[in-house]
Amino acid sequence: MKKAVILLAVFTTFYCVKAQTNEDKKMDSFITELMKKMTIEEKIGQLNFPGGGDVVTGQAKNSNIADKVRKGNVGAILNLKGVGKIKEIQKVAVEESRLKIPLFFGLDVIHGYETGFPIPLGLAATWNIKGIEQSARIAATEVSADGINLTFSPMVDITRDARWGRVSEGSGEDPFLGGEIAKALVRGYQGDNTFKKNTEIIATVKHFALYGASESGLDYNTVDMSHQRMFNEYMYPYKAAVDAGVGSVMASFNDVDGVPATANKWLLTDVLRKKWGFKGFTMSDYTGVMEMVNHGIGNLQTVSARALKAGLDLDMVGESYLETLKKSYDEGKITEADIDKSCRYILEAKYKLGLFTNPYKYIDTKRPAKEIYTKENRDFARKIASESFVLLKNENILPLKKQGTIAVVGPLANTRSNMPGTWSVSVDLTKPATLVEGIQSVAGKNVKVLYAKGSHLTADAELEKRVTMFERGLGRENEKRTDEQMIKEALDVASKSDVIVAALGESSEYSGESSSRTDLNIPDVQQKLLAELLKTGKQVVLLVFDGRPLSLSWEKKNVPAILNVWFGGSEAAPAIADVLFGDVNPSGKLPMTFPQNVGQVPIYYNHKNTGRPLPEGHWFEKFRTNYIDVSNEPLYPFGYGLSYTNFEYGDITLSKNSIQENESLTASINVTNKGSREGQEVVQLYLRDVEGSITRPVKELKGFEKITLKPGETKTVTFKITPELLKFYNSDLDFVAEPGDFDIMIGTNSQEVKKTSFSLK
Ligand code: BGC
Repeated sequence: MKKAVILLAVFTTFYCVKAQTNEDKKMDSFITELMKKMTIEEKIGQLNFPGGGDVVTGQAKNSNIADKVRKGNVGAILNLKGVGKIKEIQKVAVEESRLKIPLFFGLDVIHGYETGFPIPLGLAATWNIKGIEQSARIAATEVSADGINLTFSPMVDITRDARWGRVSEGSGEDPFLGGEIAKALVRGYQGDNTFKKNTEIIATVKHFALYGASESGLDYNTVDMSHQRMFNEYMYPYKAAVDAGVGSVMASFNDVDGVPATANKWLLTDVLRKKWGFKGFTMSDYTGVMEMVNHGIGNLQTVSARALKAGLDLDMVGESYLETLKKSYDEGKITEADIDKSCRYILEAKYKLGLFTNPYKYIDTKRPAKEIYTKENRDFARKIASESFVLLKNENILPLKKQGTIAVVGPLANTRSNMPGTWSVSVDLTKPATLVEGIQSVAGKNVKVLYAKGSHLTADAELEKRVTMFERGLGRENEKRTDEQMIKEALDVASKSDVIVAALGESSEYSGESSSRTDLNIPDVQQKLLAELLKTGKQVVLLVFDGRPLSLSWEKKNVPAILNVWFGGSEAAPAIADVLFGDVNPSGKLPMTFPQNVGQVPIYYNHKNTGRPLPEGHWFEKFRTNYIDVSNEPLYPFGYGLSYTNFEYGDITLSKNSIQENESLTASINVTNKGSREGQEVVQLYLRDVEGSITRPVKELKGFEKITLKPGETKTVTFKITPELLKFYNSDLDFVAEPGDFDIMIGTNSQEVKKTSFSLK
């Protein structure tokens, strides 16, 4: 045990008291006056967030939803696409409802709007915080041009279990990286949080909380976790988003400590509002309120009342509040004050967006043509996509030369609709280039590109249906060829080529919501195809499409070049070609560990040491923490990714070997580009608290910098290490830095690091 514990910050600040600005006072009195005029029913109406599914342009006024708006039964509308429809419905709200309260409009803009960016896990792989912020800025600009002023991003759930399909929607396994990305996305969507411009929209951090830890990687499943792990690992990115001023928080589907997050007072009020000082509004996830009946904590009336009392403001889609809260109020089960509290948060959001001043602020029918899917936006999407790809292996094959004949083979080689990836609801799926087209356009006329599908996505036709939903089919229903004929055709094409590019892996809906897997391999028939292609003796480049880490053990052993391309957005195809031909040098780094096999999952780099760790250099010893059949090593570690050049790291230099609680030190390292191409490198800083009052991870990411180096160039990267970086939540959940020794590790990934140490006195 250490001698002393220094409390550097006290984590018991209940109610963040902040001086009210004049603007806040004005808002308060405006809303107080408005609420005086509102009936109970109208206040409950503000908490209702139905879907706008049945609304058709030109007839919006006659829709079922418009009727409810007229009656004051709606606060906001979900999933209404198109500024024309939105204008019609807003008109009903501000001209035909009694109090003329404007609506706001929400849509999932998860990784771009019509210009699609890489899936969030891919965006995270760029480690390019400015670029990620810019992607959100563009998404906000495009979607606000279409009348939307609320998005359900960032999704910041920490994910360590690749079986869970929604790992594709988040930033991976690391709290620090996730926190940096959360802040960047909030800045991108919300700007400076004043919403002065009509290109700035409300961001929603989700899914609060711990959704990424659903048991068995099964979607919507229960979560059970110690509070120590919660606060040290899983809560960090949600809090980062709250600290960045995120306007809204979405409750997760899962339960936490036995209470569904949607009605979890400890989460929604005690932690979120009282400890973290959150000032925006909360919402359920899609039908989250009524689903609590299935969770078994009461009937619809009970669960709705519980959610409201817990601090859940907006009821998405289920209309449980609308149906039951008045009754609960009449029966004395909830009070007017309970309703007022939530109603006020919703009205405040409308006020902050500027909708009371101008309900049509986000409605300008001229904007879409000028601001959506522009060349500039698409150029940026192509650039950030090319940064998201992770080069896993390269035995001197890549980059390819722009000459000769290239065979592009595989079920993902000739599809448009699968390129943008899951949750790209607004991308026009007929527009993205196919991989074959992308390769041909970048390679130019000197290259002959041949194509063969080679195999289905999976042997199991029913499984293929489930993973190609939402108009992302791969044409299987029209396929006349047998499996053997498909392979034969691929081998014919391969025999005429100098190099084979195999486009294999998952389809876009293999991951995402309700897409959990128990197997993390490239699907069966595709593996067979790959094995046959390798037998030709030609050079094979494997492009892995995936929305999650896959287990690529066989591929790592047998294929000479592997580029992991996730789903890269609407401009994925040319971006992949840019990297294949070396117009862009790959710089992506894994935001999630790739396992050797599914049995290692959950696997993550920042694990605890245990009392019986393996001695270095061993992979098995009896009575140690290990499996008997494979080593503990990941296939590819967190932070891993190669380049077409190589970087050499010098030793770490510290400005001091020890610091006091009010001091800081710097750790510097020289990084040199030893190759002949310019390249980008993500220099990663990890710390280890060697001795703590509770067990501490073997290492934790605490900083990173992405640098560009010309051939032969050396740069010194310096990280500032403050006591703040050393803090963690101890067993009393106090946020403290404890005196003692710390290891500093800096390197190219979480395993290949230079190491030294310092102490906190
Ligand atoms: C998802 C959310 C999403 C919401 C609204 C739900 O099914 O869990 O992430 O924002 O739908 O579309």
